[in-house]
Amino acid sequence: MTHKSKEEQQKLLQLLKQAVGNDIPQLTDEYFLQFLVANAWDVHGAQRQLQETLAWRKENDIDSIPVATNSNKLPLLLSVRGYKYVQDGDLGVHPGLSTTTLKIGSLIGGDCFHKFDKEGHPILIDRTGYHNSKALGNELTSEQITNYQVACQEFVGRVIMKESSERLQRIIHRETVIFDCSNMGIRQFHMNALYHLKAVADIVQHYYPETLHRLFIINAPSAFVMMWKVIRPWLNPGTLDKVQILGKDFKNVLLEHIDAENLPDFLGGTCTCDQMPGGCVPIRSEGSLLNPTDANEQVSTVYNTDIMEAASTNRSLCQL
Ligand SMILES: [Zn+2]
Repeated sequence: MTHKSKEEQQKLLQLLKQAVGNDIPQLTDEYFLQFLVANAWDVHGAQRQLQETLAWRKENDIDSIPVATNSNKLPLLLSVRGYKYVQDGDLGVHPGLSTTTLKIGSLIGGDCFHKFDKEGHPILIDRTGYHNSKALGNELTSEQITNYQVACQEFVGRVIMKESSERLQRIIHRETVIFDCSNMGIRQFHMNALYHLKAVADIVQHYYPETLHRLFIINAPSAFVMMWKVIRPWLNPGTLDKVQILGKDFKNVLLEHIDAENLPDFLGGTCTCDQMPGGCVPIRSEGSLLNPTDANEQVSTVYNTDIMEAASTNRSLCQL
């Protein structure tokens, strides 16, 4: 139904560009296409979503959100392994981070952008089974969680995707995500945490359309079935098509999409990231980041106020 020939796609792209206006020259054709695909090639729907996104970005000054790079040496919001524009590193109690970021990091339990899949998409691996859902749900607000998510989206969009695109000589805007549910139990079924997840899903699906390539949910326990019943209706059909839920038998599926040397050994590959403490995707022990110093400010943004303010005038804090 939504299949369109190349000629039809080009025609709809031109229609969308005319409708949105030519006063935004920095937008690439690929960016317009993300909105068209997310709206099953409906130009009006794509136009509405794109204009809402541009208005949201302007209103919240999203372009001025700082992103960590090799040159600006800002502290990372999550672990990173195997990229050239940002050094391997982990989220830690570094000066400049807000206490909110440290708290979220310690309750999430571990997440890492780790190398590329076979098609050149960066891979995000999340230790979903180690989330402290109760504390995430009760001790944080949706605003704090979505601020963190948006800052991570901007980081991957402006830093990691740049390298992905350069490697393939074409624009890459999608990531492959692995949610590892090992260690998950019924305690993770916590409604407040799921509401935060909904807030995140709403923001990502609306303002960052077509940024997901595939989502593998692995080691899914029986408790996950209950959670999935709650989560499923919040996801767009386009997102759902990209989700694959796997139990213990996931290794061959992952290896179809990711070369063994780019896949951590605990997921069936051969990578161990021995050069880094904690290996490929360090599990953060609960409380490891909960001793902030005076250099960590209590604000709902991801970085301290001075960094957030400096980034609004200093572009080197916002891009490569
Ligand atoms: Zn590794």
